[in-house]
Amino acid sequence: MKFDYLLLERLRYAENIVFFTGAGASTESGIPTFRNADNAFWVDFDLETYATIAGFNAEPEKVLNWYALRRQQIQSLHPNPTHHVIAAWQAKAPNVTVITQNIDGFHQRAGSKQVIELHGNINDHKCVKNNHKADLPIDAGQELPRCCLCDSLIRPDVIWFNEALPEEAFGQAEVTSFDCDVFVSIGCSMEVYPAASLPISAARCGAYLVQINPMSTDLDNLSDYNLVGKSGEILPKLWEAVWGESFRSAT
Ligand code: NAD
Repeated sequence: MKFDYLLLERLRYAENIVFFTGAGASTESGIPTFRNADNAFWVDFDLETYATIAGFNAEPEKVLNWYALRRQQIQSLHPNPTHHVIAAWQAKAPNVTVITQNIDGFHQRAGSKQVIELHGNINDHKCVKNNHKADLPIDAGQELPRCCLCDSLIRPDVIWFNEALPEEAFGQAEVTSFDCDVFVSIGCSMEVYPAASLPISAARCGAYLVQINPMSTDLDNLSDYNLVGKSGEILPKLWEAVWGESFRSAT
């Protein structure tokens, strides 16, 4: 794969880089996107039941069991070269921030340190009433887990449909995107807002915008450089071209 000289220079000498990841970044780990209908991972994924507060209030036990199963599945899977190359980039270059829409925690498992999670993390929990951070009891027996501070039910700390993004995380993501000189959007369909506003804002603020995606998105025309293909295959090659060393030897 051949890359433009300008792309390589921009990446090599960037002072602030953002890697922005969507569900596509984790497909090569075995977690398909929601939009990929013919997969077993999200089978039974009914948005109203599993991704709204009304669904949780109606059937909390069913929702908690469904998330417990997804957590187990994710635990048995592993970060892929996309996550590993990004973690290595953070160790190599001065200011590299990861902003993710994913809830799987793979960036951290690959060794990334600064990760802004816009949609929460499937391993975290909070109470429904006051958003108190909470741990799931190891053995709650038949009881539904409740917050030890306010006694309300405990739910997964992920963003559900019609819920606002965590203010602090989104604020940090905006500031970092406005200030970066290179913004790399990976595996994002650009259909989920407000997260999808970040690459657009970054470009408007003057960042060099790179997109990695096998499919076309609304970012195609705005991007300075479109890398068409799977990120787990493209990123190790991009690393080699930018840093002049094989990816394996750098990790
Ligand atoms: P999305 O809107 O982020 O779209 C996925 C994009 O990834 C598509 O444009 C697709 O072309 C691209 N893609 C597919 N395979 C790729 C690859 N190998 N390399 C690079 N790009 C690839 O995803 P969605 O499924 O519509 O998700 C909506 C919301 O749900 C988002 O918040 C998403 O992050 C979240 N979600 C998270 C996970 C996870 O935590 N792993 C999985 C599914 C969905």
